Amino acid sequence: MKRFIHNNMPLIIAGPCSVESEKQLRDTVMPLLSERRVSMIRCGVWKPRTRPGGFEGYGEEALRWMSRLNEEMGNRVEFCCEVATPLHVETCLKYGIGTVWIGARTSVNPFLVGELAAAMQGSGLSVMVKNPMTPDVSLWLGAIERILHAGIEDVAAIHRGFSTYNNQGYRNNPLWEIAIELKREMPETTMICDPSHIAGCRDLIEPLSQTALDLHFDGLMIECHASPNQALTDCQQQITPTTLTQILDRLQPRRHDETGSRELELLREQIDSIDGEILGLLSKRMHAADEIGRIKQASNMSLYQPQRWKKVMERQIIEGERLGLDEDFIKELMERIHSESIKRQGRKE
Ligand code: PEP
Ligand code: MN
Repeated sequence: MKRFIHNNMPLIIAGPCSVESEKQLRDTVMPLLSERRVSMIRCGVWKPRTRPGGFEGYGEEALRWMSRLNEEMGNRVEFCCEVATPLHVETCLKYGIGTVWIGARTSVNPFLVGELAAAMQGSGLSVMVKNPMTPDVSLWLGAIERILHAGIEDVAAIHRGFSTYNNQGYRNNPLWEIAIELKREMPETTMICDPSHIAGCRDLIEPLSQTALDLHFDGLMIECHASPNQALTDCQQQITPTTLTQILDRLQPRRHDETGSRELELLREQIDSIDGEILGLLSKRMHAADEIGRIKQASNMSLYQPQRWKKVMERQIIEGERLGLDEDFIKELMERIHSESIKRQGRKE
């Protein structure tokens, strides 16, 4: 069964970070069910916390509350929840859960993913795989491949940001380029953004959601709670179902087809030809660096010259500013070009 269907409208998954009581479940889920744009309800029942001793979820009891609520609603609720062990998978199946996700602390570990994949074999489950905590696209791709190899056909990826040295003001650094790279490698995979765990605070949920839609994501997973400030987990980032509706009203969904106006076509032709020129110039620059490398090696000079590099960078930043180019962008670009240049200079004949 295919559950990740989005028909040009974003697939919206919403629900509490954790199921905390039968009442909290009901108070959160009922308003979400009347929001027609929400097609799946997320529920955390086993809660991986960084430190032990906190609230760690009601487990099977929470699943019992969910299945009771679902029965009352004529079994039309698509609940999904996180699984981290084969026993979790088995328990979810026992309570009629059709969709599960693998969390960031699990997708980082190929052994665990392998065990989960084996437990999912032949289950008919739809599976979402969150990006691993570490910014490593291969690990994320590998986790998805393990699930696909177990015969699960309905698979989605969830981008929830990465744990890095500097998270750039987010709870988890978005590093959008990694999600874009995953989509480039696996274009058929439904790509969902979890702005809640990237943001870590309510204010950033809306702009992050819009960025995700602008970047061709297929859906959003957003944490909602009837009384977010009282939430036992992730209270800073959960929003009420009413706020969710307001955000969804304001978001601009984007078309996913690639055809545009004649004007767009012309601009793209221009970009393609500029990209060609950039490569030509880079190649010229690298060949000059090769020559420099030969001279430095012949005279036993160190390849990296801090003073010279400082001057080059300063000049480029000033020149970039004059040309309307962002300083961070110029720094990153020049650092990358410089490290390639040094690598080539060090090559032996
Ligand atoms: C969650 O979705 O509640 C969760 C624990 O997320 P993550 O695995 O992204 O940290
Ligand atoms: Mn959470």
